[in-house]
Amino acid sequence: MGETREPSTIAVEQRLDGPGREFTNAHLIGGGIASLASAAYLIKDGDVPGRNICIYEETGVMGGSLDGEGSPEHNYVIRGGRMFTEEAYTCMFDLLSFIPSLTAPGKSVKDEIYEFNARVKSHSNSRLVKDGRKIDASAMGLSNKDRLDLVAIMATSEESLGARRIEDIFEPSFFKTNFWYMWCTTFAFQPWHSAVELKRYLLRFIQEFPRIHTLAGVRRTPYNQYDSIVLPVTTWLKERGVRFLMEAKVTGVDFKYGPDGKAVERIHYRRGDVQHAVDVGPADLVFVTNGSMTAASSLGTMSSPPTLGTKAEGGSWALWETLASDHADFGRPSAFNGNVTESKWLSFTATLRDPTFLKLMEEFTGNKAGTGGLVTLIDSNWLMSAVIPYQPHFINQPEDVHVFWGYGLFPDQEGNFVKKKMSNCTGEELLVELWRHLRFDDHIPLMLTTATCMPCMMPFITSQFMPRVKGDRPLVRPVGTTNIAFIGQYCEIPDDVVFTVEYSVRSAQTAVYSLLRIDKDVSPLYKAHHDVGVLFSSLKTMFH
Ligand SMILES: Cc1cc2nc3c(=O)[nH]c(=O)nc-3n(C[C@H](O)[C@H](O)[C@H](O)COP(=O)(O)OP(=O)(O)OC[C@H]3O[C@@H](n4cnc5c(N)ncnc54)[C@H](O)[C@@H]3O)c2cc1C
Repeated sequence: MGETREPSTIAVEQRLDGPGREFTNAHLIGGGIASLASAAYLIKDGDVPGRNICIYEETGVMGGSLDGEGSPEHNYVIRGGRMFTEEAYTCMFDLLSFIPSLTAPGKSVKDEIYEFNARVKSHSNSRLVKDGRKIDASAMGLSNKDRLDLVAIMATSEESLGARRIEDIFEPSFFKTNFWYMWCTTFAFQPWHSAVELKRYLLRFIQEFPRIHTLAGVRRTPYNQYDSIVLPVTTWLKERGVRFLMEAKVTGVDFKYGPDGKAVERIHYRRGDVQHAVDVGPADLVFVTNGSMTAASSLGTMSSPPTLGTKAEGGSWALWETLASDHADFGRPSAFNGNVTESKWLSFTATLRDPTFLKLMEEFTGNKAGTGGLVTLIDSNWLMSAVIPYQPHFINQPEDVHVFWGYGLFPDQEGNFVKKKMSNCTGEELLVELWRHLRFDDHIPLMLTTATCMPCMMPFITSQFMPRVKGDRPLVRPVGTTNIAFIGQYCEIPDDVVFTVEYSVRSAQTAVYSLLRIDKDVSPLYKAHHDVGVLFSSLKTMFH
């Protein structure tokens, strides 16, 4: 099939009038927060007119992994419930400081989130549960050897750690401590994940050590992150003329080589049955979100389990693999997408039309909805956790409907009560397993009559945590290129940590300031480990 050829989005004649940002086009591949943030900074700090910016998104929805959708009739789904912290999320809160809230007139999204958290404070009274009872999670349970290993990994250079796994550093008993149960379920680490990434996390979030058992450092959005973040950001961009090319899958990028290095000259994308090619001029910019943690994710239903997708689904991995096969400096995607057994897990969203579960949970935990956060069942074979967010969790959620979210880190294990692998369970079976762990057995028949639960399998959800070495992730601005940047979770940014919205927004700031040569610093990386007070209280916690 032939390709339709298109000039770069704005009228080419305009560009001939003279150089300048008025005549710069920006092509952003992927509609996640990395691209949305890039578009916002191109406009705000780069003076690129919104009408010159085009975002190519292969699905029908913007926001990528930062999702939330549904209705009371058709069930709600959030693939994830996100936690942020005020100190560590400098880039994300910088972005949200100039985006107006849609639900709090006259306020920025940042102000709205800060005010919400001042009103609904996080303080878990029930972080860990065993044998149907909450346990004292303030006791970390670390041995002297564990403490030494923690200090050692923080002090070892990334080069020395190389592709080692976390389990190569610590004793097997470390993975049975309260510290590990809380750390691994808060951040979704597995023992086989990258030791380098754990080191970065320990340093980046060392200020959370003393409050890891209460999650008091966690900040949340008033609604799910699609409603509270993606919607206001896309609204702001639309008002400025940014074009959203939905259901447009980018399949390839052509380069030309000149004295300054290589430059993108064409983008190929598919929309419906038609293959398109769009020209990219020398003054134009291309931002590529390479890889996605939610690629190939699939939903089950109350009566059917989800299926396990592959990297062949969607354009995310395919595009990165195509680029990397031609350009050695564009990273090695196989380091991240090559082991689904180790990168997958399963989450679920329940829509409840009866208040029983929320009431039982409030009594059990001692937390009102929205104030507790993760409740982890440490004797669950699936290492299951559940979160009851503040209600309503969706802008369109009626008062008599409740939504909660949960996940399990070991989907290949058989349940303790439902004798099936978590990955083979229906929504109903997931609820039964959770509720039996909590000893809510008597109420299960009633609760099931009005509940629906949507399982979600994500084959690549922790792919960004897989062991990696230098060069596996491309630099945001690969050396020797002139008009391309890599953004998102699989580009290299020194010291910062993936599996965060912060990392994607930091990549966006870095890409925009560097490509446009803007004389402005990227929001500073919060380094709590330089603070003696924080170090002291963290050390004290390790002895608790
Ligand atoms: C279950 C879960 C829990 C999480 N918890 C937290 C948390 O507690 N705190 C936190 O900070 N973060 C959390 N995150 C992570 C955070 O949501 C992500 O890091 C962030 O949303 C990634 O954004 P991104 O734009 O970099 O990539 P993505 O959101 O993955 O966006 C990529 C987009 O590009 C599109 N795309 C890919 N390839 C192509 C192509 N070839 N053509 C066109 N379109 C393409 C995809 O469809 C997708 O929309 C969580 C995520 C999940 C899923």
